[in-house]
Parts: sequence; structure tokens; C-alpha cells
Amino acid sequence: MNNKNEVNIPAWTLQLLAWYDVHKRALPWRKSKDPYRIWVSEIMSQQTRIEAMRPYYEQWMRQFPTMEDLAAADEDTVVRAWQGLGYYSRARNLRLGVQEVVNKYGGQVPRDRKAMESLRGVGAYTAGAVLSIAFNQREPAVDGNVLRVYARLYDIHDDILKTAGRKQIEALVLETMPYDRPGDFNEALMDFGASVCIPKVPRCEVCPLANMCRALAAGTAKDLPVRIKNTKVPTIPLWVGLFSYKGYYLLHRRPNRGLLRSMWEFPTVELASLPEPKKNDEHISRKEEILFSDIVTNDAFEVKKKPGGKRRTSAILPKPNAYDRRHVYEEGVATIQSELAALGLSVVIKEEKVTELVHVFSHRRWIMDVYEGTLESIQAEVRETDSNKVVDDSKVRSEGKGKNALPTLPEGWCWLRKEEFATLPWAGPHGKLTVFCQS
Ligand code: SF4
Repeated sequence: MNNKNEVNIPAWTLQLLAWYDVHKRALPWRKSKDPYRIWVSEIMSQQTRIEAMRPYYEQWMRQFPTMEDLAAADEDTVVRAWQGLGYYSRARNLRLGVQEVVNKYGGQVPRDRKAMESLRGVGAYTAGAVLSIAFNQREPAVDGNVLRVYARLYDIHDDILKTAGRKQIEALVLETMPYDRPGDFNEALMDFGASVCIPKVPRCEVCPLANMCRALAAGTAKDLPVRIKNTKVPTIPLWVGLFSYKGYYLLHRRPNRGLLRSMWEFPTVELASLPEPKKNDEHISRKEEILFSDIVTNDAFEVKKKPGGKRRTSAILPKPNAYDRRHVYEEGVATIQSELAALGLSVVIKEEKVTELVHVFSHRRWIMDVYEGTLESIQAEVRETDSNKVVDDSKVRSEGKGKNALPTLPEGWCWLRKEEFATLPWAGPHGKLTVFCQS
């Protein structure tokens, strides 16, 4: 025993560590105690399953093996490397946080919790995980897994989504944390929460802590933790245009603040959000639920096939009378035409919709109606080269001369061939729409 305080540490923590010693997951970032690797793995694993993120982590480490490599990379490169993991602000903040470490701390991750938490994108959980795992400091790392495990072990019925409920458990985690193996303890809780004390139906029959678990004794394990959610999110209709001009597509860069900032999209008109579906409108909510869960867990479009092998290009949407689709169409066409006129372009839009797509964010859902059209220039002059491209100059320059010259575009717009789409950081669901580009 290393510390006299250890007499107060409950016995179940030793049982948990013994279980961890046998069952710990072999994860690539566990091969070293490098704080940078642990930091990257913790940021990536937030909102992404470990198995899904593993290839991204390995590729990331090949591309940015050190903090200096990441700090020196430009934002677009970093966001592209993150593509597929979602929540792109995490990638941007990781790069900024690493830059702070390189520039302010001489490339050494600070060991002080306050300094660690002051880094961009580093919250209490990440700071606790990095400090405990890399430096074996006695710092809790409390995430949803840990809240669930403690709520059950101690039969706590307070709402863990409320500050008071969360703080109660955080204090308990610190109180019960072993002194000699804090890093292992945090990792043991992560693995235990992911494989034994799992959400919804805990695997109590194989649990090494069953003899100590108060919720199991009380018969409340499946009801815990208590989470009272406010699930209402606004539904926003979007009109999207896949517009081509001489083999190029017109693309727009989103503003450098807000949702999916600085990422590329097809020209889009965002309409006012829809009223929430009525509480008893089961038709809408059930279909939305099916579709949304599908899309969240699976990149819907390319992979969905009907039994006959035909690609399914339409999504299930709420009842037509949930909102006025005609209004969306008319509003979208009128707005896009005036925006394109300001760019010196006119467009002929096909009447048939290309596809419909629903995409769910944590705080809103987009219902996207997608059309295609052909552009014409109404500018008096066109430039021989395009200064708005975002990829290799030579590609645009060699094809953008003479009769193929491209109309000049202002900042924030570009022309791009579909062969070059893979080079772009796409704004969420817009990346899925590239499969519908035929030119
Ligand atoms: S007995 Fe069941 S509820 Fe309790 S800690 Fe183990 S898995 Fe979780």
C-alpha cells in the first residue's frame, strides 16, 4: 500500500483492476504512454465507436506522427484527415491545442490540470484521461460510461444530465480512485463500461463486481442511469443544387463560423425551420426515427440497395403535409437564381428531384431536397484561368482556357471537377451527394 489514504479506497476497485489486467482491450494507443497519442485517441473516441475510429487513428498517426507535424499542418489538411469521423470542430481544436503545446510549452504536454484544461478542445474528461494515463496522475476522467457504471454500482437515481447529478458522481469517482494505478483505473472503467456494464441491458451475469453492486441488489440496474432528455431539435428544410458548367461543379464554402464552418457544399438555400411534429403524430416520428437511426449509423446512400440490386436514391420523409414541399421548391429556386445572378450565372434546373436526404445533427435535422441544373455564364467577360479553385492549380489552368474558360467567382466559391471531389473537406451530408454528380 503506497498511501495511508488507500485504506479508504473500496474493495471493488481492486476487483475491477484485476478484471482489467486480464480483459483489457489491445488498442494501438495503449502501446505507449505518449500523451499526444492518448490525447488524439481520446478526442477521436468521443462520439465514435472504438472499432470505427481505429483505422482513422492509425492513418492519423502515419500522417501526423508528432505534435510538431500536426501543428505545422494547415487546417484543410487536418480536416480532410478527419473526414468520416464527423464533428469537425474537434479536429480543428485538436490542431489548435497541439499548436499551443508546441509554441507555449516547448512541445511538452503540461502536467498541471488547469494548464491542460486551458488548451483548445480539452475539457475535464480529456485532461483527466491524458494526465492519468500518460503520467499516472490521480485525475478522474468522467464520461457517460463512468457515470453509468457509478450510478449502478451505488444505485444513484439523480439525473446524470443535470449538473448536480453529475457532480455527485464526479466527487465519488475521485474519492474511490486508487492511488497507485489511477491511469489503469480510468482505462479499466472505460473497458468495463464498454463491455460489461453496457447501456440498456448490463451483463450482470458475467460482472466481476456483481457482489458489490447496489443497483443489482435493488433490481434497478436496467433503469439506471437516469437521463431526462430534452430531445426537441428543429427540423430545417434545405434546397440543394448540383450545378455543372462545362464539366465543372459549382461549390460554395460555408462561413468560417457556425455549423460545419469553412467546409464545402453544393449551393444551398436554407429555409425557416419547420414546426415540431405534433406529439401524437406517430406516422412522422416513427418513420423519422427509422430513417434517422439508419443515416446516423450508416452512410446512407451509396450502400443502400434494393433486393434487385437497384440503388435506393430516395429517403423516407415525413408525411407530405408535414410541410409544404412546393413552397420549399419555389423558395429554393427563386433564391438560388438570384444568388447565381449575382455571380454572373444563370441556371436551367431540371424539374425532377435527384434525391432527398435527411441528416441529423445533435441540435438540428436537415431535410434536403436535391435538384440538378446546368449553368450558363451571363458575365460580359470570363477569365482564362480560375483563381477560385481549391485544388492543384495545373488541373484548372490546363482546362480553363479559350472556349473552356471558367467564369470568375468571388471568394468562397469555386469550380471543381468531380474527379477532384475527394480532395475537399465536405460539409457533412454534402459529401454523400457527390455520387449523384453525372457530368
Ligand atoms: S452488476 Fe450489473 S449493473 Fe452492477 S456493475 Fe455489474 S454489470 Fe453493472
